[in-house]
Amino acid sequence: MAGALVLMLAGCSAGDAPVPVMPASPQPVVFSPGSPGIGDPYFPSAGNGGYDVGRYDLKLRYEPRSGRLDGTATITATATQNLSSFHLDLTGLTVREVTVNGLAAVTGAAGAEVAVTAPVGIKRGKKFTVVVNYGGTPQEIKTPVVGPGGWHRSARGTYALGEPFSAGAWFPANDHPADKAAFALEMTVPEGLTAISNGIPGRSTSRDGRTTWRWSQAAPMATYLAFVAIGKYRVTTGSHQGKPMITAVPATMSPNAPAARALARTGEIADWLEKRFGPYPFNAYGGVVIDDPGLDSGLETQTRPVYSRHALDGTSRQNTAVIAHELAHQWFGNSVSLTRWQDFWLSEGFATYAEWLWLEHEGGPTVEQTVHEQYTNYPWQVLPAEDPGPDGLLSSGPYERGAMALHALRTRIGDTSFFKLLRSWTRTHANGNVTTADFIAAAERISGQKLGEFFEVWLSGSYRPTY
Ligand SMILES: [Zn+2]
Repeated sequence: MAGALVLMLAGCSAGDAPVPVMPASPQPVVFSPGSPGIGDPYFPSAGNGGYDVGRYDLKLRYEPRSGRLDGTATITATATQNLSSFHLDLTGLTVREVTVNGLAAVTGAAGAEVAVTAPVGIKRGKKFTVVVNYGGTPQEIKTPVVGPGGWHRSARGTYALGEPFSAGAWFPANDHPADKAAFALEMTVPEGLTAISNGIPGRSTSRDGRTTWRWSQAAPMATYLAFVAIGKYRVTTGSHQGKPMITAVPATMSPNAPAARALARTGEIADWLEKRFGPYPFNAYGGVVIDDPGLDSGLETQTRPVYSRHALDGTSRQNTAVIAHELAHQWFGNSVSLTRWQDFWLSEGFATYAEWLWLEHEGGPTVEQTVHEQYTNYPWQVLPAEDPGPDGLLSSGPYERGAMALHALRTRIGDTSFFKLLRSWTRTHANGNVTTADFIAAAERISGQKLGEFFEVWLSGSYRPTY
C-alpha cells in the first residue's frame, strides 16, 4: 500500500526530470489449449474454443457402393487466444494427416472429437490454416435428447443432414451455430449421380467415370445448415430475382406430384415473406425433396431447404406452409442465428409464425384462429418457449409457444411496429448471432414500451397469460 502511495505522489508531481526508460524484458507468450466446447450449457462438448472459423473448403469423394467418404478439409480460422492446441468435431471417421500452416501436426482422439496440437503456438488474432486429410464410412450422430443427425445412407440415395448437429459426421468442424463460416464443397461421385448442396453452383466436371459437383456459400453459415444430397435427382436450374434458383426432386418423381408442385412455388413464397421480413438474405434460392421413409420433416439448410417427400404429400396449402416455414428460417435462424440453443424459439417461433401467416394468406385458418386454438390447449404450466431444456428443444415450446408470444407482441405493439421490428431485426443482425435479450431490447426500442415482464410471462411463465 505504502509503495503504491509513493508512486502515485511521484506521478502527480510536476516538473520531474525525465526518468530513463528501461527496456522491457521480453514477456514469454503463454500458449494454452482451446476449450473442448464452445460454452453452450445445453451441449457442453459441442463446438470448440480458442478459434473462429472463417471458411471451410471440402474436397471429397464418395463411393455409394462401399459407403466410403474420403478427402480433405481446409479450414481457415483465426485464433481467439494464444493457442497451443484445439479440438475439431469429427465423429466416426479416421484422420490420416493434419497440417497447421503447412507443418505436420500431432493429433489424438478426444472422445468424439479430434485434438490437434499446433506445431508452433498460434498467437491470438492470427489467421491459420488447418488441412485435414480423412476418410471412412460416415455414420449417424446419435444425440440422445434430440434424435439422429449426420450421414444417412439408403438404397434411394445418401444425404448429410441434421439439427442441432450433423457436420461432424462428414467434415471436421467447429460444430455450433455460434461459429458461422463460409463454405465450399467439391463432391466427386460416380457419373450419373447428382451431388447437390448449399449456395451457388460451380462448373461440374466429369473424368474417369466420375463427376465432380461444386457448390459454395459465401455468407456465413452455421455448420448444421450445411448439407449434401447424393443420388438420382431431376435438377431444375433457373434464376429468381437475379439469383440462381436450383431445385431438385427424386428422378422418379412426376413433375405433377404434390411435392414437386409445392417446391415450384419457392420463389413466389420467398417474395411473399420478403415483403414482411425484409430483403431475402442470401445469394441463391432453391430446395431439395428427399425420398426416404426414415426422414419425416424438413430442414432449413441454407439457401436450399431439404424436405422429406412425406412432409410435402398433404394438400397444396399444407405443403406450401411447410415451404414457408423453412424459407422463413433463411431470415430467422440462418442469417440471424442463435448464440445458444436455449434461445431456439428465436428460430422456430418465427418460422412457425410465418407458417401461420402463410396459411391465412392461402385461405386457411386466420392467425387469430390458429393462436386461439393453440392458446386454449397449450400446457402453459410445464413447457416454456425460452430455455425448454435440451430435451424440450423440438417440443411445441420453441415452436408454437414462441409463435404465440410473437402474435401477442404484435397485438400489443400494433402491426406497424411489429413488422418494422422484424425488418429491423433481420437487417441489424444479418449474418450475426443473437440472444433473447437482444430481441427484447429491439422490441422495446421500436415500440417505446417496457416489455421485460411481457416476454417473461409469454416465454417462460408457468401459467396461461391473459390474452
Ligand atoms: Zn423450423
